[in-house]
Amino acid sequence: MPHSMPATVAASGDNPLQGVVDFFSSPLWRFLVDMAVVFAVALWLACAYWVYKDARRRLGDRLLLVVAVLTGLVFGPFGLLVYAIVRPPETLAEKEERELEVQVLASRLEEERCRFCKTPVREDYLVCPTCGSRLRVSCPSCHRALEPEWRVCPYCEAEVRGAAVFDRL
Ligand SMILES: [Zn+2]
Ligand SMILES: [Zn+2]
Repeated sequence: MPHSMPATVAASGDNPLQGVVDFFSSPLWRFLVDMAVVFAVALWLACAYWVYKDARRRLGDRLLLVVAVLTGLVFGPFGLLVYAIVRPPETLAEKEERELEVQVLASRLEEERCRFCKTPVREDYLVCPTCGSRLRVSCPSCHRALEPEWRVCPYCEAEVRGAAVFDRL
């Protein structure tokens, strides 16, 4: 009896997708899947970390911070996208700075009024132009306007005897 080799060869060629099946059970494919999983996990964690870092600078409320980080952790890149849309536009530091600026401006406006008649006065006025009350003293050396409590003129370094120069009109 002669061996019928062609029959077995034909049998192994029955499935045209055999090569594809072989590929999906190969170590290379498993390696690629592993790498994809590792990459996805890294991406997820990076998203959560970025949200955490950014939210810490923008959210004063601890509960909101937890919600933001959980959003990044659960939804990964999609959570990050949502967070980026709804996050506060300015950081806490920026907000603080802005509020401080407003405060300084407000207090400056308050300062620049005569304390007797409330007329707005400039910071280089020696007397109130409306009621004539003394606002500042003039430096005995350079004659610039000085605050009454100053002891040294900041412009010319001359010593100022505050009360003495604070003469009456
Ligand atoms: Zn006045
Ligand atoms: Zn001076």
